[in-house]
Amino acid sequence: DVFQCSICLDVFTDPVTTPCEHNFCKTCLKKHWDNSQTCNCPYCKKTFKHRPDLKINTTLREITDYHKKNSPEKKPEVLCDFCEERKLKALKSCLVCQSSYCETHLEPHLRVAGLKKHKLINPVNNLEDYICQKHERPLELFCRDDQMCVCSMCAVKDHKNHNTVPLEEESEEKQTRLMNKQRDVQQMIQDRIKKIEDIRHSAKVRQLIVLVEQRNTEKEKAARVELFTDLIRSIERCQTELLKMMEEQQKAAEKHEEELIEELEQEIIELNMRNTELKLFSHTEDHLHLLQVPLETPGTGLRSV
Ligand SMILES: [Zn+2]
Ligand SMILES: [Zn+2]
Ligand SMILES: [Zn+2]
Ligand SMILES: [Zn+2]
Ligand SMILES: [Zn+2]
Ligand SMILES: [Zn+2]
Repeated sequence: DVFQCSICLDVFTDPVTTPCEHNFCKTCLKKHWDNSQTCNCPYCKKTFKHRPDLKINTTLREITDYHKKNSPEKKPEVLCDFCEERKLKALKSCLVCQSSYCETHLEPHLRVAGLKKHKLINPVNNLEDYICQKHERPLELFCRDDQMCVCSMCAVKDHKNHNTVPLEEESEEKQTRLMNKQRDVQQMIQDRIKKIEDIRHSAKVRQLIVLVEQRNTEKEKAARVELFTDLIRSIERCQTELLKMMEEQQKAAEKHEEELIEELEQEIIELNMRNTELKLFSHTEDHLHLLQVPLETPGTGLRSV
C-alpha cells in the first residue's frame, strides 16, 4: 500500500521521505534509528553516512489524511450465532445452515460426516445473499457467460453448457486483476504525488525568479537614478564654469576698455600739449628756430583712432 508505513504497517502519520525516496511515519523512523547503530532505510536497507534531516512530506500527509478520512469503515465483525453470553467472533459461516460459528461451535462441522459436506465460507453477515433464491442452494459457481453467481442446480438447468467455474477460482482471478489494477492506481497516485511536488517546486523557483527580478529592477532603477544625478551634477558644474568664464571675460573686457580710455585720455593730453606747441610755433617770427623744429614728435606713436 502506498499509504502504509512499512514499520508500523499502518497508514502514515506525519510521513517523511528518506533520500532513497521511501516513506515512513516520522516517529517510526526516528525510533528505528534511535534503536540501531547504523542509520539505514528500513525498507531498502540503504545506509546513510549521516542521519538525514527529515522534513514531513506535506503533500503525502495531505493525501494520506484525505485517504484516512475517506476510506471505507472497517467491515463490521461477524459474530457467532450460537454463543450464549458473550458472542465470540465467527470463524466461518455455513451456507447450508445459514449460520456463523465461532471456533468452538464450528467444531461439529469439521467432525460430523453429514455436516462436513456443508459449504463453509469466511464469515459474512449477509448470508442470504450467498443462497440461490430460485433453488435455495449455495451460490458456489460463477457463470462467465452471464457474469453472475449460480448454484449447482442453475448450472445444470438455466446455465447448461455455459462456462461455469468454482466461485473461488473466479474470485482468485478477479483478485489478481484487482491487485494489478490497484498497483496501477498506486503508481498513478505516486505519479500524482510527484507531479504535485514538481508543481510546488517550480512555483517556488518561479517565486525566487520574481524576487531576483524585483531586486534587479530595483538595482537598475537605482543605477539609472545615480546616472541622472551624475548628469545633472555635471551639467550644473558646466553651467557654473560657463557663468564664471563669462563673468571673467566681462571683467577682462571692462578692464581693457578702462585701460583703453585711460590711454586715449593720456593721448588727448599729449595731443593738446602738442597743439599748443604747434600753435606757438605757427605764430613765431624766428624762422631759423622754426625750421629746426621736427614736424613729428619722435617717440610719440599715435594710434589711428
Ligand atoms: Zn509507521
Ligand atoms: Zn529506501
Ligand atoms: Zn460460538
Ligand atoms: Zn452447516
Ligand atoms: Zn440456483
Ligand atoms: Zn449462464
